[in-house]
Order: sequence, then C-alpha cells, then structure tokens
Amino acid sequence: MGKLLTLQEIYKHFPISSGKWLTRNVRMLKAVDGVSFAVEKGASFALAGESGSGKTTVARMILKLEKPTGGSMEFEGRDIVKFTRQEELWYRTRVQSVFQDASGSLNPRMRIGEIVGEPLEIQRQAKGNTLSNAEIRERAEQMLRHVGLQPRVMHNYPHELSGGQKQRATIARAMVLNPSLVVLDEPVSALDVSIRAQILNLLADIQDELGLTYFIIAHDLAMLGHVSSHIGVMYLGRIVEIGRTEEVYSHPQHPYTKALFAAMPLPDPLRTKASASVRGEIGSAMNLPMGCRFHPRCDFAQPRCREEEPALVAIGPDQSVACHLIGG
Ligand code: SF4
Repeated sequence: MGKLLTLQEIYKHFPISSGKWLTRNVRMLKAVDGVSFAVEKGASFALAGESGSGKTTVARMILKLEKPTGGSMEFEGRDIVKFTRQEELWYRTRVQSVFQDASGSLNPRMRIGEIVGEPLEIQRQAKGNTLSNAEIRERAEQMLRHVGLQPRVMHNYPHELSGGQKQRATIARAMVLNPSLVVLDEPVSALDVSIRAQILNLLADIQDELGLTYFIIAHDLAMLGHVSSHIGVMYLGRIVEIGRTEEVYSHPQHPYTKALFAAMPLPDPLRTKASASVRGEIGSAMNLPMGCRFHPRCDFAQPRCREEEPALVAIGPDQSVACHLIGG
C-alpha cells in the first residue's frame, strides 16, 4: 500500500521557566523524546499509553498544532515541517480530526448544515474555487446521510442533537473534504457505552468506503484492539512496543504493555476487578529517570536498567520492543 505518514526521531521539548529575574530557571519538559513510526495507507494506527505518555503531543504535531523541536515528519513523501503556505493549505484539506468532545468541536451558534459545510466554504475562500452555495449545501447533506443523520438536522443547532448525533456530525465535517488521514482523539470515550459500538462501526464503514487512513489515540486498550491494525505503546515520551495489533495483543512483550493489558477491565462479569494494575504513577517528563524510563515501576528491573536506556529492537517482522530483557 505504501507509507502515508512517517515520523523519524521526532522530539517535542517544552521550555518551562520558574522563578524570577536572576533566579529564573528554565527546564525542559520532554513530552516526546525520539519517536519514530510509519503509517501505511489504509491502516488504522493507534498510539496507547497513560496520560503523560506523549501520545496527545504526537497527534497535535501531526495536526500541525505543535511544531516538533527535532526530527522529520513526512506526509505522502513531503516534509511537513518545511511546508510552503500552499502546501500548508493542501495539507489542511488532506488531514482532518475528530475529537472526544463533540460539543466543544461544534460551534453552538451555527446550524449543523453550516458546520458540516464550513470546511468547503473555507476552501472556496482560500482557493477561489467555484463551488456554489447550493453545491456546498448538497455536499453537507450527502455527508450527513453518509454518517446516518437525516438531512433535516441541517437546520438544527448542536444543542438540539444527542451526544451520538453530535459525534456523527463531527465525523461528517471531518470527511467532507475527502481527506486521506483522519486523526481520531478518544473518538468514543465521551459517549454513552450503548452507542460507542455504533460510532466505531460507522468509522470502520467510512474507512472502507473512502479508503481512509486513521491515526487513533485513546486510553481504552480493549477498544483499540478492535479498531486498530497497528499499535504503538508510549511511555514517558518514547515508544516501548510497536507492531501489528494482532501480534502485540496476542504476545505482548514489554513489561509495561503486559501491565497495561493486565489492568484492562475484563469482560467476564464474574470478575469484578482486573487482575493487576500498573504499579505506581507515571514519572515526570521534566525529570526523566536514568536508564529505562519505566524502571521505577518495573518488577523485572535489573542494575543495567537503571543506567542504560534500551533501544527499540525488532523481535519479529511485525513487532519491536525496547527492553533489555527482550531481544537485546
Ligand atoms: Fe523493565 Fe529493564 Fe525492561 Fe525497562 S529495560 S522494562 S526496567 S526489564
């Protein structure tokens, strides 16, 4: 299929200053600290990890809401960081997003038809293309039908829709420009459990029909197991395990991945509690542990782990792991 998106040794360090005048102290928050992966066209690539792992910052860099402090990012073979203004406009039509909070993404003062058609309107103004108002309305209506909403919701305001309907409208807006990559940030976590499956099925159907590529970030490993084809597990700014979802889920290797799986809620109603949880709290990206970043929480840590950071090493055609105990 070929690669759509490639991140090579991407860094995002934020300077954080404290104190005043002569005592001012600037330290670096290393939110993303050398992350590399490639997303194939048509794949659903997921990033998992606890809050503070850096996955949201990676998504924000892909959406160009943050600029990397190092490394390269290529989309369809073009360097995203060095885009000209023209390429920037092109990229903003090719890459769209769906966020967790549909209410926050939909302007409460606009009608649903205007919200869904707005990207076409912006494109018309930027490019001076010839879409008429009627054509924009028609495209918005088509997209609403596509996501399972009646065209009459064109005239509604967001507050008149249910949570599921709002998320469908957000999806229609994201798809109206016919993008190639859609960033899904916790796409169902704010929804009622009863409608999560419907929205996930809708996203899967649209992906098949439109040949989309998804980049998904979420906490919910069970959900990611269903919707992703490839997954990377992040811990304190780095990927500790990456591969085909099937491989990673059937044979997790990194102690952190194993601990996350062990802490997953179980579908068995007789078991009210997950069998284990990840011990302790995730560390601070401003004060990273020496050696393996996971060593303060790892049950298998050895002296070497406190001194030497493990590299991500391929342990098979579809799986790589960063742990001194595995493959190194
Ligand atoms: Fe645990 Fe050491 Fe592996 Fe890190 S490198 S995950 S501390 S065993």
